[in-house]
Order: sequence, then C-alpha cells, then structure tokens
Amino acid sequence: MKYNPVQNFINGQFVNAKSKNTLAVISPVDGHSLSTVPLSNADDLNDAVQAAQKAFPAWSSLPIKERVQVFFRFKTLLERDLQELAALCTEENGKTMAESIAEIEKCIELTEFATSLPQLISGEILEVSKGVECRTEHAPLGVVASIVPFNFPAMVPNWTIPNAIALGNCMILKPSEKVPLCCGKIAALLKEAGLPDGVFNIVNGDVEIVEAICDHPKIEAVSFVGSTKVAKIVYKRATSNYKRAIALGGAKNHLMVLPDAIPDMTAQNVAASMSGCAGQRCMAASAMIGVGNVDAIIDKICNEARKIIPGENLGAVINKEAKERIESYISEAEEKGAKILVDGRNAKVKGKENGTYVGPTVIDFVTPDMRVAKEEIFGPVISIIRTNTVDEAIKIENANPYGNAASVFTQNGGMARYIMSHASAGMFGVNVGVPVPREPFSFGGWNESKFGVGDITGKSSIEFWTKLKKSTTKWNPEAGINWMS
Ligand code: NAD
Repeated sequence: MKYNPVQNFINGQFVNAKSKNTLAVISPVDGHSLSTVPLSNADDLNDAVQAAQKAFPAWSSLPIKERVQVFFRFKTLLERDLQELAALCTEENGKTMAESIAEIEKCIELTEFATSLPQLISGEILEVSKGVECRTEHAPLGVVASIVPFNFPAMVPNWTIPNAIALGNCMILKPSEKVPLCCGKIAALLKEAGLPDGVFNIVNGDVEIVEAICDHPKIEAVSFVGSTKVAKIVYKRATSNYKRAIALGGAKNHLMVLPDAIPDMTAQNVAASMSGCAGQRCMAASAMIGVGNVDAIIDKICNEARKIIPGENLGAVINKEAKERIESYISEAEEKGAKILVDGRNAKVKGKENGTYVGPTVIDFVTPDMRVAKEEIFGPVISIIRTNTVDEAIKIENANPYGNAASVFTQNGGMARYIMSHASAGMFGVNVGVPVPREPFSFGGWNESKFGVGDITGKSSIEFWTKLKKSTTKWNPEAGINWMS
C-alpha cells in the first residue's frame, strides 16, 4: 500500500473514522494498491456536522471580501502543487498526466471565479416610497453537503467547494470511495490557505454516508454529481427531508455531423471528445449522428482514433467492472449487426498488465434501438448512427432521456442555429466536441442529466448556495405612514 490509510477531515484535523469498515483503493493505471478508504457511518457524519455548525457563525459573519482571501491563497497553493495533485489524480483515477494537469488548471479557474463573487453578489436597493428603502442581500444557508463521483477527483469537488464556502456556508464533502486521495490533499491546502477549522470537512464512505447526509436534520442543502440512477435517489431523499437539492446525473451526448463539416477538424474533435479521460466524462461524445454522406469524415475519425494509444495518450478506465461493462456494450452491438471499425477490446499495456484499459472504439451502422445508441457507456466508444435529414437527427437526439450536451459540426450558420434551438440539451456546441461552458458561464444539463433548479457552477450557483434576505427600512419620520409602509 503506497499511502497511509485515508482519514476523514473534521474540524481541521485528519481523524480516523469511528466505523472500522474499509475498502481498498486500487490504481487503475497498473492495479497497484494505493490505500484504504473508511466507510464512515452516521456517527462520523454527526461529528463533521457539529464541527461545521460550530464554525458557521464566525465564518458567515465575515464580510465576503475577507472570506475570499482564503481562495486567493488557495489558488496560489493549487498552482504551487499542481504537479503533485495531478500525479495523485492520475494514480487514483487512471487518466493521463496531461488530462490531470488540465483538471487541476480547471480547479484554479473555478477558484478564480469564487474570488470574483464579491463583485457578483452585491444586492439591490431602491427607495420604494418616500424615505423607505427595500434591499436584498444573499445570506448563506448554513451547513451544506457535496457528494461527488469518481471521474474528476479534483475538479468536481471544486465545482462546489470554493463557491459554497466563499458565500459563507460550511461544507461536508463526501468524495467518491474510488478516488478519495485528491480530496484529502485539497483539505490540507484549504487549511494551509487559512480556512478556519470546521468550515470544510470530509466524511469518506459510500451509500450509508450518502443516505445519512440526505437524512441529517442540520444539513440545509445537498449537491450531488454522479449517475442518473443515484441522482434520482439523492434528489428524492434530500428534498423529501425538506432540503434544497441539486443532483447532476449521467449523459448520452450526441454530435451531429453534416456533410459540409470541415473534415480534419471534425475528425480530431470527435475522436478527442469520445476518448478524452477514457470516455469517462459526462460531456464525452457517445453517439455521432452522420447526416447524409459523411463517409470521408468517418474514415478520418478512424485514422484519428488509431493514433490514440492506451497507456500513452489514453488513460485507464476506473476498474475491471468498468472495462467488462464497456467491452460487453461493444460485443453486443457487433452481435446485433453494427460494424466495429476500430476495436478497443482486449487492450493491453506492456508493463501495466493489471491496468484496466479499453482502446478507442468506433462503431458504425448503429441503429437507434441498440443499447450503444441509447445508454451511457462511459468508455472511449463512439456509436455512429446514419440519417438522411437533420430533422431525423434531431428526433434521435431529442428521444434520449438525458440532456447534458449536444454539438453540431457544420459550416452552415443557419443550420447550426436551427439545430442549436431544437436540441434538447443544456450545453450545446458548434464545431466544439466538448462544449463545457468556461467560468463564469454555468455548468448543468437538462432532462435526466440534472434534477433541481439552476446550475452547479458560475453565477447560477449563487442562487443555490444562498437565500435572499429582503429588508425594508425607514429612519426618517417625514416618511410618514401610507398603506405600503
Ligand atoms: P455514482 O452515481 O455511482 O456515484 C456518485 C456518488 O454517489 C459517489 O460518491 C458514490 O459513493 C455515491 N453512491 C453510489 N451509489 C449510491 C447509492 N446507491 N446510494 C447513494 N449513494 C451512492 O457515479 P460514479 O460512477 O462515481 O460517476 C460516474 C457517473 O457520474 C456517470 O454517470 C457520469 O455521467 C456522472 N457524472 C455526471 C456529471 C454531470 O455534470 N452531469 C459530472 C461527472 C460525472
């Protein structure tokens, strides 16, 4: 075991969980043992909630301009330790070092956004009748929780940590039990940045701790990112306990390729979108709809895919179960009559025989009823569906229950605009394979890719992490009294 057992982080200290149950943390890169993670219980959560409750009055009463000073310092610490954090991210998640570096750079961008919050949350004030003023201000909620998935061990936690905390809340983070190491390092950096004890806490674990979070009476709001199946469970349970909740789920993102698309650029974008982070991105292209004759572009996509080599510029998938699941999708499509143009099954990386790799896979002549056309595969696989018209393509995109992202590749502006307004997805790209909005634009899908109001990052997150106080004031007697005041 390369690292010491993972601990919880409560009241500014790394502490052992009261529960003695643990899980192994295994590196998907080569199968070596990294650590163990505690499966905490409701007692552990209680300790964290109490610490957060205790810290809340002092933290929330600081002016936001003072609170964000912690995040100016956190940003420079992320920059200082970028390589170390990225290496940890690669070890526990399996993505390439270049992808991990990009992930930490995104954490820096998210932190920069949080430092701009004082500029964004100034309230409104109006003299509503003579001598009487109404004003609004954003008040923090109290103790909030953030539950995160395995695929971005550092970035997804940072979708919520800087904004929620800068806005005055105290947080309990529940990392993915598959990748708990980056979160521990983030806690240490927040402490070094000067965040007071108890403002940020980590409780490791799995289902039991998620359920305890949804049920805890002192937790005001829950944000969740993960699969749709669990997003639904968490959203329902948290809101049935009268909490504010936002739950981001899975995805099946469609790229629509028109015959006038620029061939090389399109092929590079499609290949990068389906294979980046080994396809384990909720923004990954999973289905491509070729409208009309796009054979030449598909040939180029295959050529690009063949340049993507497991263990070199393609990372591992998270574990053996994921590898088996992805490969079974490919085999089933083949059995049902689809054509495997580039086959990533049985990928092996020399010297990393216990790593869990799937090579890039291009499947052509997929029909909309096949599972590879409908379900989230979460691997480096693109399913190509052929249609004759743009409207047929839109119909297929609209029929999928998710709605995270969609893109079109074309040089025709009018057609791009038409598809943009008809796609049923929260994030849309024109000639962009991974249309992740950069800060300050907010991140969030539609349909079964997100439950709850608003988005999880950017300006939209301000509404989620705060409540409005509306005050009416009158100091001068000449204001008199009328029916409104
Ligand atoms: P997951 O749903 O299995 O796990 C997410 C979190 O929920 C983890 O912390 C896990 O411990 C917990 N959990 C798992 N099963 C649970 C249960 N039955 N009850 C309560 N809690 C449970 O997701 P994952 O496999 O870690 O991540 C991959 C998924 O996340 C994909 O579907 C991907 O699309 C999605 N994702 C979505 C977004 C987005 O922005 N929409 C971003 C990243 C990942």
